[in-house]
Amino acid sequence: MADKYDVIVIGSGPGGYVAAIRGAQQGLKVACIEGWQDDSGKQVLGGTCLNVGCIPSKALLEISHKYEEAKHGFDHQGLKVGKLDVDVAQMMSHKEKIVGNLTGGIAGLFKSNGVTSIQGWGRVLNSKQVEVTDAKGKTTTYSAENIIIATGSRPIEIPPAPLTDNKIVDSTGALEFDDVPKRLGVIGAGVIGLELGSVWSRLGSEVTILEAQESFLGTVDQTIAKDALKHFRKQGLDIKLKARVTKTEVKRNLVYVTYEDSDGKEQQFKCDRLIVAVGRTPNTEKLFSSDSGVDLDERGFVFVNDDCETNVPGVYAVGDVVRGPMLAHKASEEGIMVMDRIAGKATEVNYDCIPNVIYTHPELAWVGRTEEELKAEGEAYKVGTFTFAANGRAMAANAPEGLVKVIADEKTDRVLGVHIVGHQASELIAQGVIAMEFGSSAEDLALTCFAHPTLSESLHEAALGVDGMAIHKANRKRKKK
Ligand code: FAD
Ligand code: AMP
Repeated sequence: MADKYDVIVIGSGPGGYVAAIRGAQQGLKVACIEGWQDDSGKQVLGGTCLNVGCIPSKALLEISHKYEEAKHGFDHQGLKVGKLDVDVAQMMSHKEKIVGNLTGGIAGLFKSNGVTSIQGWGRVLNSKQVEVTDAKGKTTTYSAENIIIATGSRPIEIPPAPLTDNKIVDSTGALEFDDVPKRLGVIGAGVIGLELGSVWSRLGSEVTILEAQESFLGTVDQTIAKDALKHFRKQGLDIKLKARVTKTEVKRNLVYVTYEDSDGKEQQFKCDRLIVAVGRTPNTEKLFSSDSGVDLDERGFVFVNDDCETNVPGVYAVGDVVRGPMLAHKASEEGIMVMDRIAGKATEVNYDCIPNVIYTHPELAWVGRTEEELKAEGEAYKVGTFTFAANGRAMAANAPEGLVKVIADEKTDRVLGVHIVGHQASELIAQGVIAMEFGSSAEDLALTCFAHPTLSESLHEAALGVDGMAIHKANRKRKKK
């Protein structure tokens, strides 16, 4: 029997590692178990987010956006560039360097905070014991007063598109291409499909994205989603809606993709590589001994309440392995909340104020309720919008696409949602999150002074527009008081 801890965290992604650091800050004795190793046998910290998710995808999105701008966006601004080329190997090594810096940083943070890092795959035996199997197959049982499960998720595989080496790949494979495919297919027009499709499209691939649903980004506010779709198609992404992939075949180095189109007819196209981006599934297999007693829901997620407690006292679960959006910051918020509660501090996650971002160009970012949701629930609301085409900073940045939409309660004026499509929407949305977190009204935002010239002024104008008072646009006729 090994050391006893106050808390054992299983998994070192943004849910697990952040929880572990918070626990140590709170004076708890914490161990974090991570099974992932690289080819050399070194433990890999940071989970999906740092290694094969948020960070490497954003690195490639940044690089490919620069390339795209230099190729198509510079001439009319008076900038001439010589011959432009892509060095995929260098691009990948730059991305790997960023990943290495960040994952190495976690090891350093564990050390400085006194978190014990244990290599191996954890299995919950009961409410107080975790069995860990290391790389050599040796098992050790660790005890703790509390256990936090943060084992994350992995890409879903679908029978019509089994993964093959380098030809039909998941999101991880799509972050590691060694050249720019001439024709690229993507199954799924969700966040990951759009981001990775954009990367390779900007670098020169002809990209076709097949999406089974009829609506584009169906859970996103449709004003925003429709505007984004228009821009993506203009950029050359061939997004086919109501197109369900039924079969794939790899022949003579090409992938043949069969799908049912919007008229129910069978269609086929060929591509050099295919990315399967149809969602993610929680890592809960082999995680529990048969008598651990922890309940899963019907889709395999660990069943938890609003405070991330499982049905077994002292056992918690956070991040992608539980209900809710699969987002790194949601995972971290939950990890912090659970550790604070274990340390005796009453805190909660405000699930109404979790921002979502799609890092395409333009970016999409939103927080709170959509117009469609409010309509369906019969809630009375008012809306203000402002386009970036009328924003001086957006024009100066050569990024006039998109708009900001602020939705407020008809009676109380409280902000219910902020939805943005546009340049740096990922940064702008923080202002909407803060406004909502502090229960602001649209008028509070309207009465706030915003620096000029900034993209943020579009949020200001949209808030002013909620009551028909935007300055730099013709407002709809206001009711006389
Ligand atoms: P993970 O990050 O998946 O970490 C879980 C860890 O647990 C892993 O390291 C795993 O090896 C380990 N583990 C699993 N089982 C065991 C076990 N039994 N014992 C020990 N260790 C175990 N989210 C955003 O918010 N913003 C983005 O821009 C974004 N971009 C993304 C891009 C891509 C391509 C992908 C794939 C995902 C992206 N996400 C993004 C989602 C984000 O990565 C996840 O929501 C986040 O990583 C979830 O964190 P987590 O801690 O719950 O799990
Ligand atoms: P997300 O869960 O946001 O990553 O999005 C995944 C998308 O993949 C969803 O919008 C699904 O509708 C879509 N999808 C799932 N299976 C298929 C399929 N066989 N063909 C086309 N699209 C699919």
